[in-house]
Amino acid sequence: MRYSGFRILKEALTGHKGWGHAWRDPEPQTSYDYIIIGGGGHGLATAYYLAKEFKQARIAVLEKGYLGGGNVGRNTTIIRSNYLLDGNEPFYEFSLKLWEGLEQDFNYNAMVSQRGIINLIHTDAARDAATRRGNAMIMNGADAELLNRDQVRAMYPFLNFDNARFPIKGALMQRRGGTVRHDAVAWGYARGADSHGVDLIQNCEVTGMRIENGKILGVETSRGFIGAKKVGVAVAGSSSKVMAHAGMRLPMESHVLQAFVSEGLKPLIDGVMTFGAGHFYVSQSDKGGLVFGGDIDGYNSYAQRGNLPVVEDVIEGGMALMPMIGRARLLRTWGGIMDMSMDGSPIIDKTHVDGLYFNGGWCYGGFKATPASGWCFAHLLAKDEPHVTAEAYRFDRFLKGLMIDEKGQGAQPNMH
Ligand SMILES: Cc1cc2nc3c(=O)[nH]c(=O)nc-3n(C[C@H](O)[C@H](O)[C@H](O)COP(=O)(O)OP(=O)(O)OC[C@H]3O[C@@H](n4cnc5c(N)ncnc54)[C@H](O)[C@@H]3O)c2cc1C
Repeated sequence: MRYSGFRILKEALTGHKGWGHAWRDPEPQTSYDYIIIGGGGHGLATAYYLAKEFKQARIAVLEKGYLGGGNVGRNTTIIRSNYLLDGNEPFYEFSLKLWEGLEQDFNYNAMVSQRGIINLIHTDAARDAATRRGNAMIMNGADAELLNRDQVRAMYPFLNFDNARFPIKGALMQRRGGTVRHDAVAWGYARGADSHGVDLIQNCEVTGMRIENGKILGVETSRGFIGAKKVGVAVAGSSSKVMAHAGMRLPMESHVLQAFVSEGLKPLIDGVMTFGAGHFYVSQSDKGGLVFGGDIDGYNSYAQRGNLPVVEDVIEGGMALMPMIGRARLLRTWGGIMDMSMDGSPIIDKTHVDGLYFNGGWCYGGFKATPASGWCFAHLLAKDEPHVTAEAYRFDRFLKGLMIDEKGQGAQPNMH
């Protein structure tokens, strides 16, 4: 069924009896051509593009819980393409372009809202760095603007411009950045994939891989063995655990990242803002809650919940930027598991096992990457060669010293 204004009108006049399920709930078949492990944003997008753009069939997504219950439904919803390095910027700009046409493409309201993102500048050196980044973005076909202090003040007069430690001197703005309703992205891709014949199998945990003579034959699951010609892994924070079934040890650690929502406030922040001196990013949801986040918890964990020291640390960052939020009440916090890589950049690559492919290492920036990640992973699965914007995201970059270290932190996953 196509969703449209006409359909809403028709259903409103006929008692809303015509709405069907958004996707089927099929039993797993004995084998598929493609199995995608992980029903998060990346896994669902991969299945969708495999079927729709690359015309492949007999595809299943296996999800251990429910679709969208992982990071895709837990993030702070920010999309942008304001990266500096060559390996990253073309990929994230490709993703932003896909976001721009996504709702029409998969016929679902994902509330893509290009409300603009600003990264605040607090020192002269930071202004130089922001200028360089903005130029790199423009050279890769993205948009970037350098704002001076008065322009930022006109947008957000309530910021603490004269903070003695972190005076605000301007900002790097990307107007095409913004937010997207996170779980609607999972639902939109799920519905789109299902309508192209993909089997979405929930409550189906992959517990092992059957590999013979260096080739994958299928996966062991909580619902029995399922055969496959090709298997793509897109399980975000569980990457190390799942790839261990193939005997692989990844250049990756899992850490918790928390998100926060305040009580509903009157409209205050119409875009997305990041604090350049500490780690704090904030936007305001359509319901009025301030949605914000900061650093990861800093130690390895597979728990989808966070701890109080980081709550305090993130809120200190917020208070330094806009002291008046100290009067707002915090309503909710939650955590997701981040697949933090050694250089802070992702991997979309084949493995040493014939027919086994890997997608992960998104750190805490993978939501914005969802469309391009799905597209590029589907490209790799279908054609056995990397998409032009994802050529740098290979396992062997660590072997060859070709790291894509956007933050310049070195091999320190918790710092990226
Ligand atoms: C608090 C927080 C804030 C964030 N903010 C942003 C942001 O503002 N912008 C941004 O770009 N990114 C952000 N991120 C990062 C982003 O959410 C992730 O990088 C991205 O969602 C990861 O890809 P995914 O959607 O496929 O992951 P997930 O949704 O986690 O999908 C992986 C799926 O694999 C399943 N799985 C795991 N093991 C198995 C198994 N053995 N068998 C079957 N299924 C399995 C899981 O159940 C899960 O559903 C944030 C993350 C968090 C937690």
